[in-house]
Amino acid sequence: MARHNPCPECRSTDLLVHDNIAARGTYGPDLLPGGSKWYAVPRMTAVVCRDCGHIRHFASKDTLEKLSADRNWKKVR
Ligand SMILES: [Zn+2]
Repeated sequence: MARHNPCPECRSTDLLVHDNIAARGTYGPDLLPGGSKWYAVPRMTAVVCRDCGHIRHFASKDTLEKLSADRNWKKVR
């Protein structure tokens, strides 16, 4: 994905991407609270830089729509 390239830390283009990661596990923290419904766990994409190890996470499009409708998420001003 062009928008993920290059790494914002070290400018490397040696990156790995993994789509469709569940943002909430059974015992782990909820990384995107408000993004889930009882039938659907919020999804995200991870991008890892193979040079410096910097990790970025991106919420999926439908998760973003759910977060926008959730009042606990405040717009940063
Ligand atoms: Zn990097």
